Amino acid sequence: MAYKIINGKEISAAVKERIKNEVEALKVKGIGVGLAVILVGENPASKVYVANKKKACEELGIKSFEFKLPEQTTEEELISLIKKLNENSEVNGILCQLPLPAHLDESTVINTIVPEKDVDAFHPVNVGKIMIGDFDFLPCTPAGIMEMLGFMNIDVCGKECVVIGRSNIVGKPMAMLLLHKNATVTVCHSKTKDLKAVTSRADVLVSAVGRAGFVTADMVKEGAVVIDVGMNRNAENKLCGDVDFEAVAEKCSAITPVPGGVGPMTIAMLMQNTLTAAKKQNNF
Ligand code: NAP
Repeated sequence: MAYKIINGKEISAAVKERIKNEVEALKVKGIGVGLAVILVGENPASKVYVANKKKACEELGIKSFEFKLPEQTTEEELISLIKKLNENSEVNGILCQLPLPAHLDESTVINTIVPEKDVDAFHPVNVGKIMIGDFDFLPCTPAGIMEMLGFMNIDVCGKECVVIGRSNIVGKPMAMLLLHKNATVTVCHSKTKDLKAVTSRADVLVSAVGRAGFVTADMVKEGAVVIDVGMNRNAENKLCGDVDFEAVAEKCSAITPVPGGVGPMTIAMLMQNTLTAAKKQNNF
């Protein structure tokens, strides 16, 4: 079957161009857009993500405030920094890169960020708003996937959509956004019985498991759209997703690659949330 590649690089470039123009228009009105990114410790993957976020800010004219804190930072110190950033009018969005070192409680930290500046949309207030369907920010990865589907004119209304994974960051909000678009949604996880029987029904299959080669061709319906959220290293230490791309692509109507799929969209949506925060805080 001839399949389309859902090109996250190309789609995120279009999204970023739109954001850049809006940021410039706000600047003309005397309004700056700023994002604070906090990194605690030396997690190598987190360092790469933070560097990419800083680069995206620079590209789009968003001021980035970077805080690199040592591994032994206390919860008090971190909370005190977040409280200061909550009060800083130059900072429209605050992001604390996860995972945090084990001695820091993630939910305490997330709950300290005021919901208006919570551009990751992890605060319980924002999570609740997503549930209701009345939201300001959407979590970046699921939002990026919805943007990709929209760009490709893939309408999920009435379709069978299956999400593998139920994390608070990806799986659960992904299911909710698909539901808001009137899809029939099934969420699978490690306790799901006969996963293949469920995934084989999917018109749209989203995999957010974190295991290379997890989704094989026999799990995918002919003509399905497959979205690969996974970011893994294969046996050759090359970046790859959850999906056995070569074999699965042959059965698909459209599929995201890794790299160059969901990843670039996630950062673009973070920039979108920062812009939204700046507009709201300035009553736009
Ligand atoms: P996570 O919190 O580890 O969640 C993984 C999910 O997969 C869990 O819900 C787990 O089920 C489920 N799972 C594990 N084994 C399974 C099995 N055998 N059958 C069915 N489900 C199974 O991971 P995450 O944070 O959601 O991230 C998932 C992947 O996406 C990772 O590779 C991560 O790096 C990647 N990611 C990419 C981006 C991006 O921008 N591209 C952003 C975020 C995450 P249980 O709940 O039952 O344990």
